[in-house]
Amino acid sequence: MITGACPCGALSFSIDGAAAWTVYCHCGECRDASGAPVTLWAGFPVAAVAVSGVVSWRPGRSLWVTRGFCAVCGAHVLYRDRSMVREELYINGAFVSEPDRVVAEAHAFWSERVTGVGVDDRLPTFDTYSRLRLPRTDPADIAGGARAEIVKRPRGPLH
Ligand SMILES: [Zn+2]
Ligand SMILES: [Zn+2]
Repeated sequence: MITGACPCGALSFSIDGAAAWTVYCHCGECRDASGAPVTLWAGFPVAAVAVSGVVSWRPGRSLWVTRGFCAVCGAHVLYRDRSMVREELYINGAFVSEPDRVVAEAHAFWSERVTGVGVDDRLPTFDTYSRLRLPRTDPADIAGGARAEIVKRPRGPLH
């Protein structure tokens, strides 16, 4: 069981099961939202995550992305992207009660990293997303589910 909460405690989460994917994200949008040069995300099957408290969901730059903030203290706790082939709900690893349990598997958006942040962990790097997304077409395709075609791309080492 993985548990955690935002700094004020009003928004908490618990997850029964292991993360499907953990990644450091270096994108500018995570940087703006989190106020940190790098954000550590742990993704779980959506149904595995129990969230309590009031989440303020705000749209991301992508049509499919919503970012969840504590409605009280404003901490950026959750991330969801409905264009993911295997949709996962992401928890900001900084707010996990035992953060050492969240070990990143890769770096996403390496192309947008703050180069002054030293990284020599030899994890795989991705110039943009580290998880497969559906083609970016009409949001109704995502809502309709089956009509969306999966982009044929070479599989990365960790998908
Ligand atoms: Zn990001
Ligand atoms: Zn809070």
